[in-house]
Amino acid sequence: MTAAEKIRCDACPVLCYIADGRTGACDRYANHDGNLVRLDPLTVLDIAGDDQRVVPFLSGAQDWEGEAFSSGAKFVTAIGAGTTYPDYKPAPFIVSQKVGDEDMVTVVTEGIFSYCGVKVKIDTDRHIGEERAIVRVDGEPVGHVMTGEYGSRMLSLGGVDHLTGGSKKEGRVTCATLLALCNRQSVEMEVEDGARLVIAAGKAPVINGTEEARMRVGCGSATIGMFARQWAPLVDDVVVVDDHITGVLSEHQAGRLLDVPPTGIKLKGRKSTPGRYFQVAGPGTSWGGTDIADPLEILGPFNPKVAWPGMRLLMVSTTGEQSAYYTLNEALEPVPTDLTTALEAVVARISENCEPATASVLFMGGAGGSLRAGVTENPVRLTRSVKAALTRVTVGGAPAFVWPGGGITVMADVLAMPENAFGSVPTPALVAPIEFTLRRSDYAALGGYINEVQSLEDVLAKGMPAGVRTENGEAA
Ligand code: SF4
Repeated sequence: MTAAEKIRCDACPVLCYIADGRTGACDRYANHDGNLVRLDPLTVLDIAGDDQRVVPFLSGAQDWEGEAFSSGAKFVTAIGAGTTYPDYKPAPFIVSQKVGDEDMVTVVTEGIFSYCGVKVKIDTDRHIGEERAIVRVDGEPVGHVMTGEYGSRMLSLGGVDHLTGGSKKEGRVTCATLLALCNRQSVEMEVEDGARLVIAAGKAPVINGTEEARMRVGCGSATIGMFARQWAPLVDDVVVVDDHITGVLSEHQAGRLLDVPPTGIKLKGRKSTPGRYFQVAGPGTSWGGTDIADPLEILGPFNPKVAWPGMRLLMVSTTGEQSAYYTLNEALEPVPTDLTTALEAVVARISENCEPATASVLFMGGAGGSLRAGVTENPVRLTRSVKAALTRVTVGGAPAFVWPGGGITVMADVLAMPENAFGSVPTPALVAPIEFTLRRSDYAALGGYINEVQSLEDVLAKGMPAGVRTENGEAA
């Protein structure tokens, strides 16, 4: 077969020539009897219940009290819609729909994102690696550990430098990693000088082969604050072991206000404020994200002028996963003692207050570039309209957070989208759905392709070569 008998796909810069009955390099387009067809069904969200608003619209606008689509409405997502590439042409679908008295328009396109990545939040105390440590998949660098958050470790994966700035293999592996994570599949990765991780959106993270169960209830100091009143009648002192902020009941403000007397306890590490200590141990995967096996390692000798034989000390981690109970002997040394039933109950209360550990994946991409030309002939007006909250941005129907500042840089939770919302092309780049919803009058004012607007009914009636998939729009 000659190239002339093939058809050329121009939906991305790869420009595949596709023979009849075959698919292009991304498996998203095919030559069907000489016609270029998109192989995935167009995905339409069926908005179900009264409270299941897929796109709460214009929540910040003063003159709008409604929402984009009420119960029973349909919302055409960009999943399976096709792309605007090479971007001078209008978006594949510009769909009008009546919402109350308002004529609304949704501009639907699958964007090809070279500037994109994911932010991953891993609920765990365990040390997975130093901040800035490289994260590798199949030996290739795909991102790094970023600033830890409250009870969670964070990864930043992908981005244009890994997609385009390294070797071909680095770009390919990065793209495959992003695609899998965005489509909720699990990915094995390794942090340099850190942990082996298996991550999937919405699932418990697996760290060094062990599935994480609980997210910490709080830092050591917060845990003291939360449970001080329950502990004070049962013990003389409590230490909540934490890699970041270890708390000591007798010195903590909560203990003071509850009249807990000093116990002569001495902690290693650096005292920050009363009852709050930093760096009591090294980071690790044990008690409260430290590297200690025995909690007594973080204690110095008790002050004999203050401590007394028989003093009762509880040591516990920030998840309640580890605990130990001691009484001081005549030499003021802690002697392991069985937890009382009452103490077992308050340790269990910590665990009870821990949420299940989950990995969360947020897609982040820049939509402020050429794909805007598929929405309007005057792209900067779309940016201004988004910033003025006149245009609502969604990603596969999921609400997107739009970063302040220049451009249209969005973040959206992949779990709020239908499954398999993302694709990829071998440039390498991720293909992500993106929708812009606004009043028809605003769309006309920003120079939109008003002549290309089709009614929702027409879009659904014409269908797509691969059909239309209807999903329940129980998005966030
Ligand atoms: S890789 Fe690009 S050009 Fe090739 S079929 Fe896919 S979208 Fe079309």
